Amino acid sequence: MSTFDVNKIRQDFPILHQEVNGQPLVYLDNAATTQKPQAVIDALVHYYTYDNSNVHRGAHTLADRATRHFEESRQTVQKFINANYDAEIIWTKGTTESINMVANSFLPTIAKKGGKVIVSELEHHANFVPWQQQCLKLGLDFIVIPATADGMIDMQEYERQLDEHVIMVAVTNVANSLGTIQPVEKIIKMAHAVGAKVLIDGAQAISHLNVDVQNLGCDFFAFSGHKLFAPTGVGVLYGKRELLEQMDVYQMGGEMIKEVSIEQTSFNVLPFKFEAGTPNIADVIGLKAAIDYLNAIDDKYPNARYEHEEALSNHLSQRATAFEGLTPIGVNNKRAGVLSFTLKGIHCHDVSMLLDQQGIAIRTGHHCAMPIMNKLKLPAGTLRASLSFYNTKQDIDRLFDALEKAKTFLG
Ligand SMILES: *Cc1c(COP(=O)(O)O)cnc(C)c1O
Repeated sequence: MSTFDVNKIRQDFPILHQEVNGQPLVYLDNAATTQKPQAVIDALVHYYTYDNSNVHRGAHTLADRATRHFEESRQTVQKFINANYDAEIIWTKGTTESINMVANSFLPTIAKKGGKVIVSELEHHANFVPWQQQCLKLGLDFIVIPATADGMIDMQEYERQLDEHVIMVAVTNVANSLGTIQPVEKIIKMAHAVGAKVLIDGAQAISHLNVDVQNLGCDFFAFSGHKLFAPTGVGVLYGKRELLEQMDVYQMGGEMIKEVSIEQTSFNVLPFKFEAGTPNIADVIGLKAAIDYLNAIDDKYPNARYEHEEALSNHLSQRATAFEGLTPIGVNNKRAGVLSFTLKGIHCHDVSMLLDQQGIAIRTGHHCAMPIMNKLKLPAGTLRASLSFYNTKQDIDRLFDALEKAKTFLG
């Protein structure tokens, strides 16, 4: 039997094979965006070379082909996250748009006097600001559950806040700034027990965990294609069918209508009711190629992607703990391929510039998560190395060699 060979996997990602500033590239910024396998690039080229056409309208061969591939992609996503119906998969341009859609079009349908919306201090701004602003507009209470110093949602405080006034809970499955995996199953059950609806921000979870929305029981789940080895500009909102039926339309125009007269308009059925205008056809098809690619690996080497990542993650933690002057954050909790850290007495931005000179890409700053950075008293943010299954142990060792140099040079 063949085994999972990361060097063979790397052959599928052309971008990884280049020099940056005279050094072989080490890409450790996967939490910001992931690289695309050749299969995804080929799918885009194929679409524009042979199939380009608008969907759901033309009665000609190209339009039929484009529509078929576009709708097959919806079914591929449905199976990938185990949704009940393909109509529960709504195309958006990313996690941000998916969450804004629910905050703008669903929240008003359940708003009531004295209602509370709960988020956590660990949220990405995309799962924070839309709720905060909608609460101001609708006169709802906006409750932010604090995080513990090691990057977990404070469950005692969460429990204390839960009562019959809570209408919505929106939390992340994996904190993008720290990588910590949150106990979302428990969070969802507790929210449902008081009658609240739950949205899970799955932007980080989707590439690192085995996501099953029915098993989770969440009402909404949002993710972006570009963090799942697919193109930018395509994302998914999953919602339970009856809730999507109840949700108001988000944007209006073509595709989303059934009949329009001068006096009134009736809207299309799910999922089209939420997909106004010509959709991002090519990138939706690219998302299918990315999932097909992952499924092929998972079929051939069950669990190998996750096991390889976990081994890398452990190596990352070990090296971090042994590195003098390095403070890792949340390192004692289960994390999804992320290490966030600071170096004593050295500014993050100076470090990342020196790393870049050595061909190493990591992220620095607040990671679009200012509330948690403020809480941890890290105004300059952190350095964040984030993994994917195409990374190697050598990538991590190169990072620490480079950090050693940075320390000598800057410290
Ligand atoms: C990246 C990210 C987002 C935002 O995703 P976009 O693709 O920029 O819309 C939201 N939440 C988390 C946890 C993220 O990692």
